Amino acid sequence: MPWSFDYLIVGAGFSGLVLAERLSNELGASCLVVDRRAHIGGNCYDEHDDHGVLVHRYGPHYFRTNSSAVLDYLSGFTDWRKVTYRVLSHTEGRYWSFPINLKTFEQLVGRVSTDEEFETYLAQSRLRIPEPRNSEEVVLAQVGPELFQRFFAGYTRKQWGLEPRQLDPSVCARIPVRTNRDDAYLTERFQALPAQGYTRLFERMLSRSPRVKVLLKTDYRELRSQIQCGHLIFTGPIDEYFDHCYGALPYRSLRFEAESFGPAELESRVAISGKRGFWQPALQVNYPNDEAFTRIVELKHATGQICENTTIIREYPEPHGPGNDPYYPVPSASSRALYARYEARARAERAVTFVGRLGTYRYLNMDQVVAAALVEFERLKTRLAA
Ligand code: FAD
Ligand code: UDP
Repeated sequence: MPWSFDYLIVGAGFSGLVLAERLSNELGASCLVVDRRAHIGGNCYDEHDDHGVLVHRYGPHYFRTNSSAVLDYLSGFTDWRKVTYRVLSHTEGRYWSFPINLKTFEQLVGRVSTDEEFETYLAQSRLRIPEPRNSEEVVLAQVGPELFQRFFAGYTRKQWGLEPRQLDPSVCARIPVRTNRDDAYLTERFQALPAQGYTRLFERMLSRSPRVKVLLKTDYRELRSQIQCGHLIFTGPIDEYFDHCYGALPYRSLRFEAESFGPAELESRVAISGKRGFWQPALQVNYPNDEAFTRIVELKHATGQICENTTIIREYPEPHGPGNDPYYPVPSASSRALYARYEARARAERAVTFVGRLGTYRYLNMDQVVAAALVEFERLKTRLAA
């Protein structure tokens, strides 16, 4: 006798859990959420490591949004700790202010400058490309070849295993360029971390959703024959759902390497970090050129955790393959064309909804994923009423 649920939801990340919470609490639906990992939260999962430091296991997750609907919804499950995320770039043996701003230019010319002088430099350096077609052109059109080579070319090659010109403009366009001294990494109006972490936020969602059952360490493919459900919500890789029938979609993966330090070791880093108890001078340092990793993140800068230890995490980009999770869909013309074939097949599946970063093969931030899940919920509700 198979188990029976109104909804079977594959994936316990933001997409899956927002839909489970809405469907159960607003519509009284029963939901089974399955995830092959041993924890809820998907890639946003955070935890205290063996040194007592709160870390993001799958890379740094900086919450930011311009959407009051998303903020209002999530604020039902968490308080917030306001953070301005600060990032530096490290190349040629020194730290650079980043994203590119007037302070970066002052470092470049070795003296105090003005926004007018920087704007003149940019006007002379920029290439005239009215409609950039790729990530190389988008940066060349903003800042020209010198800054492109110093801060973008190497990082992008490492991160994606592709030339910047092979990637959509939207990839490098994520990084702002400013002619004033504002060095905030992000531009959204609201920037904050869940005050007690992401995992706690997800736990609260579930504790208020009694009609949601979660099954961890369970792959949907092993379970599907045993479950009877009215509708399936799939947040895993869409090509995997269709057994890669048109070929595998490309994804980029990462390897995370953590290193922890105690107070004695950190004492000798104060000259570099500028702050007792920290290893590096900012939350995130990008390494565009000289290292195999792309960035080092020291989350304690953002969480404000009081802890004598600290943990840094180095990120090494890797190809996706057996044992390597698919972290990033690759925004390029060829992958978009392949995804379009899967999307057409997905549209024909009346009893299945595909959502999320992997389910819709889009480079989405957390707030965009939550917004999309809330829209999807309204669609399912309307369909039920019809
Ligand atoms: P996921 O979180 O990937 O959840 C999908 C879940 O489905 C996974 O837990 C997976 O195990 C499960 N699953 C898949 N297939 C199956 C199956 N067959 N059976 C069972 N379970 C399955 N966003 C921001 O806003 N700010 C940031 O700073 C930021 N930084 C990021 C850094 C990195 C390194 C990465 C990779 C992403 C970052 N993001 C960031 C994006 C953010 O992680 C995503 O927007 C969000 O996690 C997507 O949620 P999701 O539920 O769609 O997918
Ligand atoms: N990027 C770069 N140099 C940097 C930071 C970013 O070239 O120092 C490019 C790179 O291609 C990267 C993209 O900009 O993939 C987006 O960067 P972001 O920091 O938003 O990436 P994410 O946090 O999503 O990995």
